[in-house]
Amino acid sequence: MTALCYDKGRAWIELNMENLRHNVNILRSMLPPGCELMPAVKADAYGHGAVPVARELNKMGVRAFCVATVAEGATLRRHGIRGLILILGYTHPHEFELLTTYELTQTVIDFSYAKLLNGYHRPIQVHIAVDTGMHRIGERCENVEHFLEMFRMENLKITGLYTHLCTADSENDEDKVFTARQAQSFRKLVQWLDERGYSVKAHILSSYGLIKYPEYGGDYARVGIALFGLLSTDEDTRLRGNKLRPVLSVKARVVSIRKLHTGESAGYGLAYIAKKDTQIAALSVGYADGLPRALSCEVGSVLLNGRKAPIIGRICMDQTLVDISGIPSVNTGDTAVMIGRSDEQAITACDVAKQADTITNEILSRLSQRLTRVIVNQL
Ligand SMILES: *Cc1c(COP(=O)(O)O)cnc(C)c1O
Repeated sequence: MTALCYDKGRAWIELNMENLRHNVNILRSMLPPGCELMPAVKADAYGHGAVPVARELNKMGVRAFCVATVAEGATLRRHGIRGLILILGYTHPHEFELLTTYELTQTVIDFSYAKLLNGYHRPIQVHIAVDTGMHRIGERCENVEHFLEMFRMENLKITGLYTHLCTADSENDEDKVFTARQAQSFRKLVQWLDERGYSVKAHILSSYGLIKYPEYGGDYARVGIALFGLLSTDEDTRLRGNKLRPVLSVKARVVSIRKLHTGESAGYGLAYIAKKDTQIAALSVGYADGLPRALSCEVGSVLLNGRKAPIIGRICMDQTLVDISGIPSVNTGDTAVMIGRSDEQAITACDVAKQADTITNEILSRLSQRLTRVIVNQL
């Protein structure tokens, strides 16, 4: 669980709820007719904090959410979140009871999992995942007889069908053809079932789907990363996400300042050697807080008083060293920005992702529970 301490202490995440509301409004304006948002708040809302985010969304009239696990769904319910909560992943039969206790909707992983769910002694609300080409989870769309059988299962209360586009972010022509085929296969199945009297909600779009292929429609858009004001890469964010605003900042304290003389080392493995007399600072944040260790040794930097301070030596579990030479008047207790703005300068989660050779989604979702949450501009 997220540490629900609303104080700026050692290291924290600042959530700007006004930016979240701005993104909701932008994304709502892009929805195809009849489609509503089903925000993805899995992995603690991509590191932001699922409870405060879902609360704000509930206040804005959002009535459906998706999460990855039954525990994530139960946490939201225990904090009073209302509406549909769809679990996108696997739930072990030991935990089926939680589905009914917390009124959660379970994904049917495939036909054999449907039989497992149906074998539970009470009715369970479900959406069926449809495999249209990702080949991860989902019943294969061509197995139409299996779909009919699932609709006839006594304990499966089927309220939705969904599929997932696996290359919607690509600009490559072959990938676009693949995406169109996925959408067509899904539409065909939904129609086929509809003609037989099995008419339920259907959904296909996630962030890239909504932004690039709104014409595929559906009853829900399962939007994750875009809701948080970013796309998976820096380039996409600049090209397609420029109306969105990042919701989260990550900050920590300057805890100690010292001067290194030429030739002295700093940190583990003597990985940094001062080439000249250098002013350095220790910050109260490390890789256990989610700052990727790949940013060590001047790959990454932080912001202090509107200036960039390169990360020197190896990032530690709980602390990080930066070079503050030339940055005027840095004092202990000052705030350093790992992700966010400081005066004219900004470091985005996309920048950090690029430096760590990964996607924004991974950087955000790995931000630690140890960071406290400070909420600003709440409804
Ligand atoms: C995580 C997830 C989403 C949200 O994806 P974004 O790209 O972050 O919008 C939607 N659908 C499924 C099945 C997911 O696993």
